[in-house]
Amino acid sequence: MADKTGEDEPMEGYIEELIECPFCGGFVPNEFECILCEEELVEMEIEGRSKMVCSNCGTEVGEAAEECPECDTTFSY
Ligand SMILES: [Zn+2]
Ligand SMILES: [Zn+2]
Repeated sequence: MADKTGEDEPMEGYIEELIECPFCGGFVPNEFECILCEEELVEMEIEGRSKMVCSNCGTEVGEAAEECPECDTTFSY
């Protein structure tokens, strides 16, 4: 019988960087193409138009955040 009960395991996640698509203006993962408008984002310069979000819940977090204020995910680097 385990005697450590009632404690939620903190979820592990990471900070995901989303960039603002210059074509549709949506925030999307920094991938090969925009998941919203499917325009190519290859080698796109990111000029401050990006934000960091929790990989689990999508809440915007600080760049150096250690955990998500919303879902308590801890970020590992
Ligand atoms: Zn787009
Ligand atoms: Zn979160």
